[in-house]
Amino acid sequence: MTVAAVASNEADRSRRKPKDMLLIGALWLLVSVAACAAQIPAMLAGFLLDHADSAGDDVLFLVMTSALALLAYVDRQRADLVRQVAARRVVELRLRRYDPLTGLPNRKFFCERLNEILRQASTYDEPVALLLLHLDGIDAISDVHGQRVGDAVLIAFVARATSVLRRGMFMGRIERHAFAVVVPDAAHDIPSTFAYRILGALAEPMQAGGLAIVPTVSIGLAQGTDIPGEQLIRRADWALRRAKAEGGAQVHSFEPEMDQQLRRRALIERELRDAGAGAVTLAYQQVVQLDTGNICGFEALARWRSPSLGPVPADEFIAVAEECGLIGELSDQLLRRACIEAARWPAVVSLTFNLSATQLRDPGLTDRLLSILGDAGVDPRRLELDIKESALLGDGDIAASAIAQLRAAGMRVALDDFGMGYATLSQLLTIRIDKLKIDRLFVAGIGKDPHSDAIVRVTIGLARDLGLTAVAEGVETAAQLALLRSEGCHQAQGHFFGLAVAASEIAGLLGLLHTTELR
Ligand code: C2E
Ligand code: CA
Repeated sequence: MTVAAVASNEADRSRRKPKDMLLIGALWLLVSVAACAAQIPAMLAGFLLDHADSAGDDVLFLVMTSALALLAYVDRQRADLVRQVAARRVVELRLRRYDPLTGLPNRKFFCERLNEILRQASTYDEPVALLLLHLDGIDAISDVHGQRVGDAVLIAFVARATSVLRRGMFMGRIERHAFAVVVPDAAHDIPSTFAYRILGALAEPMQAGGLAIVPTVSIGLAQGTDIPGEQLIRRADWALRRAKAEGGAQVHSFEPEMDQQLRRRALIERELRDAGAGAVTLAYQQVVQLDTGNICGFEALARWRSPSLGPVPADEFIAVAEECGLIGELSDQLLRRACIEAARWPAVVSLTFNLSATQLRDPGLTDRLLSILGDAGVDPRRLELDIKESALLGDGDIAASAIAQLRAAGMRVALDDFGMGYATLSQLLTIRIDKLKIDRLFVAGIGKDPHSDAIVRVTIGLARDLGLTAVAEGVETAAQLALLRSEGCHQAQGHFFGLAVAASEIAGLLGLLHTTELR
């Protein structure tokens, strides 16, 4: 090669240099990208495994499952692992959102969807309707035919109800025996007509566990546009209570005045929680033995003055305490105080104390009552527990076994407000109790309403035949007392004998015990 040729090659190479550099650079980039790409499956698998277990929201879950498809091409082994974890996650998500028995959305998931619908509806100012369906008497069906039949009725009910739903409507399980149906765009759908259509569809017998059963269904209906889902459910619930109170098997719509009642209820709950059981006091109403005219006991009645509403009727605040789970603690504290008082009375004077139906479901009830009695030094035989006749509805077996336990421990049990028709005659024969307390509604009707006279007579006769004590409540007049005595009623209480008094006045009343004869 000549010098000139070498010089020309050098010039060529230096001319090619930028190109080579570009090529080398490109190659280097390619190799680096390839090296990184090789890491991607490993990184992806690591990320997926880290997050698959805790992936909470749907977006992450969606990213995870689509990434899984990609991963499957490059790292099959780890893809399988991730797939297993993802499958478990799907099951968990289902359980978190759907009721396992009926497959319907549970309350939380239902509310999320309801809120979404309400949000969309509010932009178009369209009302959304909510139907709250309650199956009455399922517990009684389960009691008689077994849990499996009760569950089968629920499943058959859901199948029947969902079969009449139209596009856009959806149903969820809100409570054990309560289901909600959302009717979006309620301006066009007439929700109450639809509610009656559901009732009609449910009126046909359902096959459950080889039986043909027609459950009673009550429906509460509410509509709203710009309110939270839970508030719409509360309104429908309020309407549902009215439907049930009016006998069930009907539809009741929410009325604006119910909002006021709801607000009052919420206020009572808040104030009761803030004030605690210490703010609730007791008044004692005397119970009179009619053949001697002597006071044979006192019934402790709860009293509460709300800071903003003034005195609230016991029925009302006790119902709120029951609903919001305060009743157990409140009742224990009240009984503790009442027992301290009763320990000061002569041993022949008994203490009557009201128990709520919800308390009968507490398996520790008898032991707790015994411990409270023991602390105060009161013999269990002096404690008489008033249980409302309506408590035998629903979980009748549970109530019956709770009553049996209380009696086995020496306490006596009275069926309160008897005559309202909740207890069946067969229940009276199977559940052993000590007393029947005739509801004051019937006592008030004595001499005015022949039905009341008849019910009072029959109840006293029934008590006598079953070997129970008959007690008349709410005696206000001498005429009522005369009929009760002539029929052989054993005991009575009411304003005729005196209003309920503070504990401090009992000693004075008992001082009169042996000197005053009943006129
Ligand atoms: P109840 O056990 O049927 O109590 C009788 C109610 O009738 C009491 O109302 C009493 O004040 C009222 N009453 C008594 N005699 C007469 C009368 O001659 N005429 C009239 N018009 N009324 C009379 P109160 O105190 O408002 O209690 C209502 C209900 O609240 C009670 O009904 C009872 O079920 C419940 N309750 C009261 N205290 C407690 C408690 O400590 N625990 C529970 N779980 N419930 C309670
Ligand atoms: Ca009572």
